[in-house]
Amino acid sequence: MFCPFCSAQETKVIDSRLVAEGYQVRRRRECAQCHERFTTFEGAELVMPRVIKRDGSREPFNEDKLRAGLQRALEKRPVSTEKVEQCIISLKSELRATGEREVESEFLGTLIMKALKELDKVAYVRFASVYRSFEDIREFGEEIARLGD
Ligand SMILES: [Zn+2]
Repeated sequence: MFCPFCSAQETKVIDSRLVAEGYQVRRRRECAQCHERFTTFEGAELVMPRVIKRDGSREPFNEDKLRAGLQRALEKRPVSTEKVEQCIISLKSELRATGEREVESEFLGTLIMKALKELDKVAYVRFASVYRSFEDIREFGEEIARLGD
């Protein structure tokens, strides 16, 4: 690829390592001309299932939306950005592993809750309280009570 600093066409890879639990390759590159260094990430581009919303409409899986949802739940919680990114990667591979072209938004929500439960219990409760409807409030209360165990 071209150097992002001077647009020279020749750059060389000076370091290459697996990141994101082996699902991405991070490469350090150096420009042959201006000698600036930069990093590239390479990962497989796989088709994610579309999400069927409650009203029956479909939308493409949106990683940014997922990240924003997780970050909102994890606000001011002691969870590193790297952990959040790992969580996103494993959620995505779980989604792909279904082999489905479309998944219900409830299914996605359940996967997220499961992941948050392992990551941070406060974030899990925050997410669940927003995600679940008020009809489930008693069930939700029981869920919180169980977290104390
Ligand atoms: Zn350059």
